Amino acid sequence: MSDALRQPRIAIVGAGMSGICLGALLLDAGIASFTIFEKAEDAGGTWCENTYPGIACDVPSRFYQYSFARNPDWTRVMAPGAEINAYLTKVAGDTGVDTHIRYDAEVASIDWGDGCWSVTLADGEQAEFDFVVSATGILHRPRYPDIAGLDTFASPSFHSARWDHDVPLDGRRIGLIGTGSTGAQIVCDLAGRAGELTVFQRTPHWVMQIGNPEFSRFTKRLHRRFPQLDALTYHGWRLFIESFSPALLRPGIARRFASWQIRRQLRQVEDPVLRAQLTPDFEPMCRRLIISIGYYDAVQRDDVHVVATAIERVEPDGVRTTDGVLHPCDVLVLATGFDAHAYLRPIAMTGPDGTTLEEAWAAGPRAYRSIALPGFPNFFMFMGPNSPVGNYSLIAIAEAQAGHMLEWIGRWRRGELDTVAPTAAATDAFYGEVAAAMPDTVWATGCTSWYVGASGQVELYPWAPKHFRASLAEIRDSDFVITGSNSG
Ligand code: NAP
Repeated sequence: MSDALRQPRIAIVGAGMSGICLGALLLDAGIASFTIFEKAEDAGGTWCENTYPGIACDVPSRFYQYSFARNPDWTRVMAPGAEINAYLTKVAGDTGVDTHIRYDAEVASIDWGDGCWSVTLADGEQAEFDFVVSATGILHRPRYPDIAGLDTFASPSFHSARWDHDVPLDGRRIGLIGTGSTGAQIVCDLAGRAGELTVFQRTPHWVMQIGNPEFSRFTKRLHRRFPQLDALTYHGWRLFIESFSPALLRPGIARRFASWQIRRQLRQVEDPVLRAQLTPDFEPMCRRLIISIGYYDAVQRDDVHVVATAIERVEPDGVRTTDGVLHPCDVLVLATGFDAHAYLRPIAMTGPDGTTLEEAWAAGPRAYRSIALPGFPNFFMFMGPNSPVGNYSLIAIAEAQAGHMLEWIGRWRRGELDTVAPTAAATDAFYGEVAAAMPDTVWATGCTSWYVGASGQVELYPWAPKHFRASLAEIRDSDFVITGSNSG
């Protein structure tokens, strides 16, 4: 049977969670003609790159894992980053995906040539592919703050995603700029280790402080013995997390209840001055909610100081705030986030009619149902614009996106088409629906965050995860320009 099938040449850019996901599903479908280009020396993407102290996934591991490769041995409800990275690497090895990964292979450009894509690496090497899939992740380009004097700091300073593990931390005076999900995890780890931890907060975030229990040996043994338990807990956590969708997506009692639950967390902070400093002026969940094992406990310690006064400049000895106070630091950590709107860039891409990705996205990043671009045939994206990211399992999202890609790749294999790209009209129609639904969401209630693009539009999916899965499971041929002898 397979003799009659064409073997597509597929380039996947990135060997993180999404790239490994697609690789595993391709192999499962009998397609081994793919190469994963990874710019780093190892697989794992964000979980390989981010090694800051306290890193963990704030989505429960029993749901933050592949549905086709469940791990009975998670050590905690929310696993540490290194454990997730080991899991991803293990899946890549167990499935055989690792043999398709080329490390130290940075893709520089992707250009449509003679009926296929030409992928050029940074060292000049070129190869041709029938499909290209971007699996570069959404948060991979560190955002360095535009703070005067940053380069004058005389002691070690680094971004959270470029942690320098040679720098000793215990007993030192550590300055931390940024209080998002990353900053909060770092605070929880460094509080008590650092001699003094000074947290520079520009905007307070809403925090849900919860426990992170270890799984007992008995629980792990049970999961190994009865794999059905893995399926049960996977879907249990999925349903639990999805039960918050109504609060996110429309005003009403669910949002008011969730908002009340989150607001009351602040009561743990006893000092009214500190509590006021930590109180955001926007709706809970408008920005990504911080799920933390102990942020409010940590910032109430005597050796942890929250500085809510704006930073004026960085000086050789520390950080000076606009009230004139110099906060001396031995180490300065920048937990200042990522450029969440880069997507696959800085990779340059040019489609068949000479349009570049930069030109196509001149008014802001857009993608048909988050995964494909008009004018760029046989090209798909993981975690593209308007993917349902947020406090949800990106692995579950990647699986839904991979399923859609596999449908098109399967049709190509059977000779039903040569190229496929969404129409501009279908993409416009999708954005019409997005624009109509977005104002009801909590993300549009008035706050700045990485969810919001340069044009002021929220780049999330304004419907529930179930809607996303159904939308990608349904292939509407009329939404696509399809070429090829048998495409009709
Ligand atoms: P972030 O949420 O974008 O937070 C960046 C922080 O840096 C904010 O507090 C921001 O202040 C501050 N900042 C930026 N520029 C600044 C400047 N010039 N001066 C002072 N402060 C400045 O970034 P992140 O914490 O790295 O998190 C990004 C995303 O990564 C999260 O939302 C989440 O999706 C993902 N993440 C997930 C997990 C997980 O457990 N699943 C863990 C970590 C991260 P403003 O708020 O005022 O802008």
